[in-house]
Amino acid sequence: MKKTSGPGGFMVDTEKRKAENAAAPKVENLLGRIAELFTNHRGALVGTIVLVLLGAGLSVIPPLLIERTFNEGLFPPVGPPNMTVLAQLVSLMIVIFIAAAAIGVWQTYLTARVGNEVMGQLRERLFSHLQSMELAFFTMTKTGTIQSRLQNDVGGVANVLSNTVSSVLGNTVTVIAAFVAMLLLSWQLTLVAAVIMPLMVIAQRRVGQVRAKIAGKTQESLSEMTAITQESLGVSGILLAKSFGRQQIEVDRYAAENKVQIGLQIRQTMSGQWFFAMVQIFFSAIPAIIYLVAGWLITEGSVVSIGTVVAFTTVQARLLFPLIGLMRVVLDLQTSEALFARIFEYIDLTPAINDPENPEKLNPEDLGSVELRDVTFSYPGSDNEVATLKSVNIKVQKGQYAALVGPSGSGKTTISYLIPRLYAASEGQVLFAGVDVRELSQTDLIDQVGIVNQETYLFHATIRENLAYAKPDATTEEIITAAKAANIHETISSFPEGYETVVGERGYRLSGGEKQRIAIARVLLKDPPVLILDEATSSMDTRSERIVQETLDAVTRNRTTIAIAHRLSTVINADVIFVISGGEVVERGTHTELLKNKGLYSKLVNEQFKNA
Ligand code: ADP
Repeated sequence: MKKTSGPGGFMVDTEKRKAENAAAPKVENLLGRIAELFTNHRGALVGTIVLVLLGAGLSVIPPLLIERTFNEGLFPPVGPPNMTVLAQLVSLMIVIFIAAAAIGVWQTYLTARVGNEVMGQLRERLFSHLQSMELAFFTMTKTGTIQSRLQNDVGGVANVLSNTVSSVLGNTVTVIAAFVAMLLLSWQLTLVAAVIMPLMVIAQRRVGQVRAKIAGKTQESLSEMTAITQESLGVSGILLAKSFGRQQIEVDRYAAENKVQIGLQIRQTMSGQWFFAMVQIFFSAIPAIIYLVAGWLITEGSVVSIGTVVAFTTVQARLLFPLIGLMRVVLDLQTSEALFARIFEYIDLTPAINDPENPEKLNPEDLGSVELRDVTFSYPGSDNEVATLKSVNIKVQKGQYAALVGPSGSGKTTISYLIPRLYAASEGQVLFAGVDVRELSQTDLIDQVGIVNQETYLFHATIRENLAYAKPDATTEEIITAAKAANIHETISSFPEGYETVVGERGYRLSGGEKQRIAIARVLLKDPPVLILDEATSSMDTRSERIVQETLDAVTRNRTTIAIAHRLSTVINADVIFVISGGEVVERGTHTELLKNKGLYSKLVNEQFKNA
């Protein structure tokens, strides 16, 4: 694998990669883009705003009622407590509390819905965007890194999304309302209470910065852990670790990163705790100070009633939670900025391979011919000076069987990738039925091609589901017919659960030959005019190889086939052979013609196919 740096790119040197990741990606107009996520939820947002305003408005009333309760109900200017007034005021307060609680529940529902829907859409958008990325992106990025952005980062902002709206709105309004109430009660006492505000704002900014930094590091470490998990707990990874007895190394690698994660989590929780404790102390101390100031004001000749002092301290105490809530939201937003940036960075990636604006349609009668015209290609991100393919010209007529032969590393697989546009040619053209693949939509193009690789990927699902992947609406009959043609029906039927047998991830419960025949059945179901075939080299015994071979003969009949050939028999019978060496087509022709040439081909035949 080459050293490449892309977003979260693969780096052999872990430290170097970490250093790269540590710099949080810069995304322009981040807040605007976060706000944009909510545009489709205007109704619910307006509903939330109305409820929040209602709730906040209601919350101003009780303190004012408290003042009256004391001054008119409990301690009227003359005589004993006025029970009628008292009963009225108390009932009104209770009704308001009940209404406020109901509004609170409703509002929580609305915001939870908006938050989760927005987050769900973000996750889906990211997933489908990643689906549209070209193959090169995935060869250059660790799978774990990609998974981590989808799960850890999107998950990380979930809370912020669902809490921010209601918290910001609700708390701002409550704070403003409380201030108004306090001012109405006594401007002098309000002044005393307001003195500590600037201090809190300054302290809070500092805490926010520290937290944001820790959050960035936490996500990076989480991403690393996901990558390790993904690499070493997959079937291939565990097989490698077990066969080399390297489990302890994997455990150590995980433990080291886990330690980092634990430290970061503790720091994340603890950062700001002192700050919040300080805020709490201030708030608890303020009433005491208020009594002091009230006493002083009265001695100085101002009129301050008991009701005012009680109501004032009540409102002031109620300020605590909304204020802390607001600060937390600001902190959360600061913290999640890094996560949002990581998500948007992926959403902003532009696929290197795109559909044209007005795709051409292929004429069904012409389907089948494939041509590479002067194709030059270098792998994206590869720092090779020499191109992998150089001015390759290959023309395969409809229905022909073409064999690509050549030494390992000469570029045969690369050619097979360029035909279905898994990679885009750097120069030159790839043509299907005479139409440049860049003029076709990718769906139309891929409908034309079937690919049978040496490595067959099967989902962890039933055999039927794996087969039907090629044609979701395939009937049971069609599936069985394809399986029969691929010589795999009998094997499948011999399993106790038949077509409903679940194959393990990557099909580890099936042998190499069986997997390949399933892959062939899959292609048969798809029934494409062009087949790209990477013949297996040596993973099978002679018997399975013969079965696969017979199967392939059936599949390639009446179909344009481009085979990376490893067997003399296929090569001999090919309509045309292209000999590839060092990324170039060095010879072309039929077996007999090429043998006469006494060039690379005849040498290969002597060496490579000697044993056949
Ligand atoms: P063949 O199929 O003939 O064995 P390939 O087409 O697989 O050869 O490889 C041709 C060259 O391209 C080799 O030098 C190989 O190292 C290089 N190559 C293959 N895949 C990649 C990749 N994803 N990125 C960079 N270089 C690659």
